[in-house]
Amino acid sequence: MRGLIRSFVTTGATFLRKPVTREYPETHRELPERDRAFPLLLWDQQIDEPFCTGCHACERACPVECMTVLMKDNPNHTSQGGTSSRRKIIDKFWIDYGRCMRCNICVEVCNFDAIGMNNTWSGHESSAVDRLDLVMDLQQLLSQSRAGAVKPWIAP
Ligand code: SF4
Ligand code: SF4
Repeated sequence: MRGLIRSFVTTGATFLRKPVTREYPETHRELPERDRAFPLLLWDQQIDEPFCTGCHACERACPVECMTVLMKDNPNHTSQGGTSSRRKIIDKFWIDYGRCMRCNICVEVCNFDAIGMNNTWSGHESSAVDRLDLVMDLQQLLSQSRAGAVKPWIAP
């Protein structure tokens, strides 16, 4: 009899308890600052251009070779009458998210703090039907940082 009562109490307590699950995707759990989805390029809001100089360091270090980087002379460099101290700047950049293993190595090798791991849900919810849609170009890689929508964590 005591066992029966205890089971009713347990069932009742569980019934009244606040749910521990969430109605995903309507509600999202808050992500930690160091969360790693996929890499994004970062926008220099002061100069109004990408931080990336196209130096190829990340491309060379990527273990799965899913990055392609092309640089160009920066038309906004001070020698051209502009305001930037970057002599070279990124011209074209692709990252194939379908191959990226989110290892963070590209972030660690970048000397310009120009790339960071997306630490928002937008990075985790980037599935696609066609694998070609997972190949991100320069504008796609820059857009969230340019809009101020992400602030990836970069080791001090
Ligand atoms: S996170 Fe790793 S696998 Fe992905 S692009 Fe960067 S270096 Fe390559
Ligand atoms: S993200 Fe960094 S390491 Fe990669 S090309 Fe740009 S400046 Fe170089």
